[in-house]
This record gives sequence, C-alpha cells and structure tokens, in this order.
Amino acid sequence: MRIDLHSHSRASDGTDTPAELVRAAVAAGLDVLAITDHDTSEGWDEAAREARSAGLTLLRGMEISTLHNGHGVHLLGYLPDPTYPPLVDGLRRILDGRNSRVPAILSRLNSLGIDIAADDVRRVAGDAAATGRPHVADALISLGVVRDRKQAFSAYLNPGRPAYVNRYAAPLAEMVQVLDEAGGVSVIAHPWGRHDRSAMTARDIADLADLGLAGLEVDHQDHDGDARAALAGIADDLGLVRTGSSDYHGTGKTDHDLGCNRTAPEQFERLLELAEQAAARSGRDTPRLLTP
Ligand code: AMP
Ligand code: ZN
Ligand code: FE
Ligand code: FE
Repeated sequence: MRIDLHSHSRASDGTDTPAELVRAAVAAGLDVLAITDHDTSEGWDEAAREARSAGLTLLRGMEISTLHNGHGVHLLGYLPDPTYPPLVDGLRRILDGRNSRVPAILSRLNSLGIDIAADDVRRVAGDAAATGRPHVADALISLGVVRDRKQAFSAYLNPGRPAYVNRYAAPLAEMVQVLDEAGGVSVIAHPWGRHDRSAMTARDIADLADLGLAGLEVDHQDHDGDARAALAGIADDLGLVRTGSSDYHGTGKTDHDLGCNRTAPEQFERLLELAEQAAARSGRDTPRLLTP
C-alpha cells in the first residue's frame, strides 16, 4: 500500500486540477492520496468524482494556516465536517486575509518598478479558492520577471524580502480543537520545516497532544534525517501517529513528487481509527474515507 497524505491542487496553489491530481497519483502508483489544499475543501468534490472512476482511495483534508507563539504553523486536518460553523468561520477569516494580502503585495511590487496588476494574478490563479504568494509568483513568471516560483520567493516574496506581506492565521491550539469538534483529526505539517526547532518544541507538541492532536508529519522533504529521527521519537513518546507525505504542488514545487515520502499502512490505520472516534464523538456528518 503506497500512501501519500499531503498534496495540493489548483483549489489552492498546486498546478494540477483536482482531477489531474488524482490521475497523477494513480500514475505515480499510489493506492491512497489525501488532497490537502490550503484553507479550503473546494477541490474535494471534483477529486472524489475522479477517484471513484480511477479506483483511488481518497482522504479528504485541508492544510490550515495557523499561528503558534508568533510562528506560522501548517495544520493538516483530515475528514472534518466542512460545514461545522467554527471551521467555516475560521477558514473564511484566513481566506479573507489571503485575498486582501494580494493587492498589498502588488503595490509593493509596483513601488519596486514592476508593472503587475490584479488581472495578471487572476489569470494564473484561475478559480483557486485560496490565493497565495505562489500565484503572485506565477504572475511574475508570466510577465518574464522571474523564471520560477523559487526565484520569486527568494527575490520578492519570502519574509524579509521587499514584497513580503503578512496575513491572518488562526490560533493553532484553537484550530486543533475545532477540527476535533468537526469530527476530524489533525496532524502538524512539516513541524520543523520552515523554522528552527524552537518554534515547535517537544513540550509544545505534548501540550497539543493533550488538546487532541492526532499526529506529526515526520517524513517531509523539508526535514533532514536527524529531524525525522527526532520527530519520530517525539511522536512515539506521545503516542502520536507518524505520517510521511510529498506535499506535491504539481510543477509549482520541485523535489516534491507524489509518493516521494509515504505513510506506513499501520500508521494510516491508526489515523483512520482516531478519525472514526472523533466523528462519533462529534455527532456530525463527516466525509468518509472514499474507497473504490
Ligand atoms: P502563502 O500560502 O501565500 O503564504 O504561500 C506559501 C506557499 O508558498 C506554501 O504552500 C509553499 O508551498 C509555497 N512556497 C514557499 N516557498 C516556495 C518556493 N521557494 N518555491 C515554491 N513554492 C514555495
Ligand atoms: Zn502550498
Ligand atoms: Fe505547508
Ligand atoms: Fe502543503
């Protein structure tokens, strides 16, 4: 069983449509794929339709932008009821923050002398529910300003670069609880991927486990061997599920091919059991694992 629990479609900043993402997963030899767009469930229905006809097992999830001790933390949520009002409200606030940030980034770029307008971003973003810096990057590529997303981030869009603009993110602990109340389970995405380890200590993880955190994404391209071994140890100590995933973004991110990291079947089974328990506790109408 080849299981990949983190991937993006054009509903956020991936470059494949949800149907293309599902077909790419089949072509990559995966048996199970989670679609986890940033801050939206918008891609779920199209992915589910394609998964049914392609014979792929689909886990419906999302990657939520949260804030913890001043650091941005990505929280993967699997199988929550997407209509649970506190979840809908939280995602709405994040998406509003995303949308209002784009014009602010563009005016920074304009003041750097780059002629870029909202329409340039709209054209590359299509009908993405969650717009982000990668779409601004794609617009800069389309205008010939940079050659790829990586260059756009390092020249303009990363923190500390001249067109960086912050945005709203939901409190992490609160979002762990909201996902649980929505009948889903939560896993911290790439806990040590973008910051040093002090942004998410073993103590922080233990506190989140007490609030119902289900797991840690241990195997991710942003973690070296030492980080993976240390995170696996923390997960085992706390009884948390260990996942491994690609964080595939289509052509938007190199070295994140589907299946490049995978989740062990027994870890996946534990995650599903926890999701079943949360769903039962919540009494909500949660999406089920979609199996062929
Ligand atoms: P945002 O959601 O607008 O805050 O942008 C963050 C997204 O940009 C993340 O999903 C990353 O996958 C993506 N990203 C960050 N740095 C890079 C990079 N150097 N190249 C490509 N994508 C990136
Ligand atoms: Zn992304
Ligand atoms: Fe992430
Ligand atoms: Fe991601």
